Amino acid sequence: MKTAEKNDPYSMNQDLRLSKCLYCGQARHDRDARFCIMCGNPIVNRCSECPHRNIAIARYCEKCGKPTLFFLRGLLQPFPAEPSTHVYHQPPDPPEGLYARMKRLEDERAAKKAAAKRPEAKKKTEASKKRK
Ligand SMILES: [Zn+2]
Ligand SMILES: [Zn+2]
Repeated sequence: MKTAEKNDPYSMNQDLRLSKCLYCGQARHDRDARFCIMCGNPIVNRCSECPHRNIAIARYCEKCGKPTLFFLRGLLQPFPAEPSTHVYHQPPDPPEGLYARMKRLEDERAAKKAAAKRPEAKKKTEASKKRK
């Protein structure tokens, strides 16, 4: 039973935070994170009305009966869908290293800044895009 729990997409830690994002399966999150760093979906099943944190499979808040964040975001199917039907949404292209991604974003931002300042820098940006 213990091993089955590990593969349970709805497993949470003591703070009622998902060990893996329900949408994309991302597992690395800060101890006080509330949203997935990859897809932006909530990893804490908070009530849409009150501050109560519900367990992962809760569609409705156990305190006030209002829909939970997971349910509103479509991370949970309406009752009585089986939890075992869960599939993670994988990004279409293979994930690149986080540092490579950060570097690329930084480069793009710098290029945009330069292009906004100097019109002749625009050519450079296009050239570097083609190189990819
Ligand atoms: Zn995610
Ligand atoms: Zn509530």
